[in-house]
Amino acid sequence: MKINTDEVLVSHAEIEQMLERLSSELNSDYKGEPLVVVGILTGAFIFTADLVRRLEMPVIVDFMQVSSYVGEFSTGELKIKKDLSYDIKDRNVLIVEDIIDTGRTLALLKEKLLERQPKSLKICTAFDKPSRRVNDLVPDYNGITIPDEFIVGYGLDLDGEYRDFDDVRIVRKE
Ligand code: 5GP
Ligand code: MG
Repeated sequence: MKINTDEVLVSHAEIEQMLERLSSELNSDYKGEPLVVVGILTGAFIFTADLVRRLEMPVIVDFMQVSSYVGEFSTGELKIKKDLSYDIKDRNVLIVEDIIDTGRTLALLKEKLLERQPKSLKICTAFDKPSRRVNDLVPDYNGITIPDEFIVGYGLDLDGEYRDFDDVRIVRKE
């Protein structure tokens, strides 16, 4: 089987526009209040880096690595591979994710982080695939809504590859 990544779904220019829009929304909503930005590894490393450089409030950048799995009798469990380095109690927290698909990972992560009593907790995603959602999770800030396709580039991978593309491409298996 051959992997084809020729089809560009989101150009680099569209990503730049998306970053401008999201950062100006964030800058006007938080109005200079300090923010803890939680990038979700590994996919969101590029988006997080691009976004924080456009933010005007004081930010602490932290990362988490998590995954979710669905057991036979459960709606899903969260596995934390890397936890936060900072205490988020009474802080404004923004989760920065690469893409929301079923919504399972973020629903579980949100629940987990709320237990730590942040002042506020919001979600910002670069890409959203709402057609695949299994719950009512809606991002507070959404970059670009995409169709039900598997995408790579701009941090998103296929078995670790293609994260370095500066645009987003559709994976076709031939
Ligand atoms: P979910 O929302 O289903 O819990 O999981 C979202 C995670 O699945 C994302 O953080 C990402 O790691 C992965 N994922 C979902 N859709 C795609 C996609 O189209 N491309 C890539 N590379 N990863 C995806
Ligand atoms: Mg991910």
